[in-house]
This record gives sequence, C-alpha cells and structure tokens, in this order.
Amino acid sequence: MVKDLLVRLSNAHGVSGSEESIGAIVKRELKGCVDEISEDRMGNVIAVRKGGRFRVMLAAHADEIGLMVKSIDEKGFIRFVALGGWYAPTLYNQRVILHGAKGRVVGVLGGKPPHKMDEEERKKGVKIDDMFIDVGACSRDEVTEMGISVGTPVTLDREVASLANGRITGKAFDNRVGVALLIRTMQQVKSPHTIYAVFTVQEEVGLKGAKTSAYTINPDCAIATDVTIPGDHPGIDLKDVPVEMGKGPIITIADASGRGLIASRPMVKWLADTAESEHIPVQFEVGSGGTTDATAIHLERGGIPSTTLSVASRYIHSPVEVVDTGDIENGVRLLVEALKTKPKI
Ligand SMILES: [Zn+2]
Repeated sequence: MVKDLLVRLSNAHGVSGSEESIGAIVKRELKGCVDEISEDRMGNVIAVRKGGRFRVMLAAHADEIGLMVKSIDEKGFIRFVALGGWYAPTLYNQRVILHGAKGRVVGVLGGKPPHKMDEEERKKGVKIDDMFIDVGACSRDEVTEMGISVGTPVTLDREVASLANGRITGKAFDNRVGVALLIRTMQQVKSPHTIYAVFTVQEEVGLKGAKTSAYTINPDCAIATDVTIPGDHPGIDLKDVPVEMGKGPIITIADASGRGLIASRPMVKWLADTAESEHIPVQFEVGSGGTTDATAIHLERGGIPSTTLSVASRYIHSPVEVVDTGDIENGVRLLVEALKTKPKI
C-alpha cells in the first residue's frame, strides 16, 4: 500500500538542507530493487535501474518547507528564518520540532496575542518576523544546553491522520507524495531503458538538487513528480484550476504561466497516450502558480525534454495537506506502463 509508505515519509522530518532521514527511508525501500543507489555531493539520493542506452531521469524532491534557527535571545526565545514558502498565519501558534545536536526538542511558535493587538495590527496580520519559538527555556544557556544553536533545523510537529474515503491529512505531502510515487515506481518498473530516480534536495529553496543532478546524469528526458493545487474546494474555482482530487494524476503542460516550465510536447503525449491505452485516469494542467524540479532540469545542458506528473493536494504548504492516495497509485501505474515504451523526442 502506498498509503503506509506515505504515512512513514510524512511523519519523518527533512527540511531543505537536512533531508537525511528521508534519504534513509528511500535507501531502505529500494535496497535490492535497483542496481545502484548512491548519494551525491549535494545530498541527492540517486537510484539506478540499468537498461539500454536511452536514459530517463525521474525526480522527486525529498525536502519539506520548515524553519531554521537564526538567533537565541538572553531569555531563551528563538528567532528563525523560513525555509520555503510559508504563509505567516499558517505558522502562527503551531507546534514545532527542533532537530538539535542532542536530539529532538519540542517548541511552539509564539507571537503577540491577538487579544492585545490594536485594530491596525489585526488588519495587517501576523508576520514571520514577529514570531518566535518558545521551547520552555528561561535563558540562552538553557537553550544551548538542549543542543540548539544557530542553524538548527525546525519542522512542524504533525502526524498523519485519516479522513473519510481513503483520504489522509498531514504535513510535507509536498513532496513525500512524489517520493512515495517514485519509490513504488522503482520497485515495480520493468523498462528497456536505464532509469535514474533522483530524490532531490533543496527544491523548496530554489530547485537546487535537481539542477546539479540533471547536469551530472545528463538524461535523454525527465519527469518530475510533485503535488499541485486542485480547484475543487471553497475559495478556489474549477474554471481557474480545472483539476480535482481523486480524478487521477495530473500531467503538466505548463506551469507558472509558462515562466516555470513549458513541457516538452512529446513527453506530454507519451504520458497521455499511455494513460489512454491503459485506461488510467489523468488530468492536464496549465498552471499559473508554482513550479517544480522540472523547471531546473529542462534547462540543463542543451535542454532536456521534461514534464511533471503531479498529484492533487489541498492546502499545500500547511501542516494539514490532504491527498487521495488513489491518485498516487494511478501515478505509479502510469509511470510503470509509460517506461515500457519510449517518448518520440
Ligand atoms: Zn513540491
């Protein structure tokens, strides 16, 4: 079941630049199913299934958005920077885990109580710079004694819970969903090609691991796996975002209004044709918001034909992301079937 794997990946912690525990799960899952598994100098974990000369790169970013300790004041309150795209009100009053030198420390994100805000402050809303982490300490020395220092990575403290209909909610589904999809694909794929599955680092802070690994691997084509925002709940509209949860994985035609990726047409056709012949439900997206690792990959070397295969996730970049794991299962089926054939690039 992909659900159990996703639960383990989501409950694990790996903010940008500290993806080691996700890499460890990947290595454990893929040991014995691939011909080679290694880690490069950036920290990308690269699993290879050897085949013919045609080389396909699959990429899933292993990192999640989080925080990093910036300073500790004399009273023991911790200031931080945001790693990745946080909306400040999402962070306010959340519980966090600080990954210090002596192990995990629980903290809370505090700020000025709304009861004490004047009208102007309430209207402006809380800012990230107004918040701090409270670990219960009374002094800087006490915090230091806990193993926390400038640079300590911080993640949200939230475990996966089940909703109805096989849907689940948790943190870091962006992008443990893509990681789970790639792990299951590599466990099942039988392809005439050589397949590189790259579990990339530091996507949320600038698509960094994808860039360096695509340069090194120099593949013939690439598919990134990630999550995308569906238009199927209040506050958003299907005419703006015509993709829905539970209706199959999503093939990117373009994202970020074309400023991120304009996908290779033969790559899109390859996945679309596979879905049609194998009767796998899929959706297509022309997005105007964020982008994925495919943006960095397709600009490497002389240009690498690329697209993205996404899974709809509601409320992304929050600790209550929601996915339908059936979409991940269909994503695995699609990649496994597609990789038996070749794109016409
Ligand atoms: Zn992502």
